[in-house]
Amino acid sequence: MNGKWLTLVLCLLLTGTAHPNPNPEPVRNLVLMIGDGMGLAQVSMLQIGNDYAPTAFDRAQQVALLVTRSANNRVTDSAAAATALATGCKTDNGTLGVDPSGVPLESSMARAAAKGLATGIVVTSALQHATPGAFYAHVGDRGDMPAITRQLAAADIDVLIGGGRRWLAEPCDDGGTWFDAFVRRGYFVTDDLAQTHSVGREKVLCAVAEKHLPKASERGDFLPRATERALELLDAASAGRPQGFLLLVEGSLIDYALHAGDAGWTLDEMRDFERAVAAAMDFADRTPGTLVVVTGDHETGGLAISANKTDFTLGENGLQYHFSTTSHTATMLPVYLYGTGADRIGGVMENTELARRIMTLLGVE
Ligand SMILES: [Zn+2]
Repeated sequence: MNGKWLTLVLCLLLTGTAHPNPNPEPVRNLVLMIGDGMGLAQVSMLQIGNDYAPTAFDRAQQVALLVTRSANNRVTDSAAAATALATGCKTDNGTLGVDPSGVPLESSMARAAAKGLATGIVVTSALQHATPGAFYAHVGDRGDMPAITRQLAAADIDVLIGGGRRWLAEPCDDGGTWFDAFVRRGYFVTDDLAQTHSVGREKVLCAVAEKHLPKASERGDFLPRATERALELLDAASAGRPQGFLLLVEGSLIDYALHAGDAGWTLDEMRDFERAVAAAMDFADRTPGTLVVVTGDHETGGLAISANKTDFTLGENGLQYHFSTTSHTATMLPVYLYGTGADRIGGVMENTELARRIMTLLGVE
């Protein structure tokens, strides 16, 4: 083939891929992964910490940017941010799963369950914490743990893995504790992730910590293992059905490391979250119809990665990590997309728009 023909063939191939596919492959499974407090600087920190060797974030096939402001504040808290990502509606800071006037908002997870999809939550915080809570609870106060625990028990989510035993051990309305209530509802209840391998077709509640799990350096590979386990359980639960599943995974303690202004702890949490992202992307590789969406709820710490010296004629200026606040910031967040439908989300958007696009792709809008 001479050069002219080769150019023509290449042009035809390239123009072919530029046209939108009129019959796109449906998104059957969606894994939404939230790094609490994770902005672009936190991903950059991981990249630098990894000496620029590719991470799971570099596998993204498409990216987008999110505006995170809440209904009443340009700087969101986790409750309002999670409500936006879960329901597609903005609310006030401190509020979970309800609009500013207190009206309950239906989450993507509730819609997915109603349409016959399997559902799951994997977190390193308490299962009643703000990010997971927005996917099943409706409370005016994110700190109302008894109410959130009651709504967790009523939510009928297939796989629940995280912390929060303290509130699950409290008395339940119908006698016994909330753990007993889960057993009565047909759940396999355990405090050990390894035990979930003996599960048959039951729903699973695996609560392993009183409140939040310990730091990444102490909890080992819990989050990547729990992510893999949840993917296996949900894949089995939806096997043979046209509907797939919706799984939420949160690297919950990135935010805690950032509030503490602890760069080493932040990097540990980012490395841990990245392994969970890689596990989800690997699952998407072997399971067509799976979309992985990775983002944050807000940036925490105002993390800046600056040069140690200002003389750029030097070969290397060194780096330092600065935290400009112990709280959250208003900076936009990156979204990383991988798998089936990754090309169908992109651009600059409000966090609520990402939620709506996820619901549309899953057919639960
Ligand atoms: Zn926070």
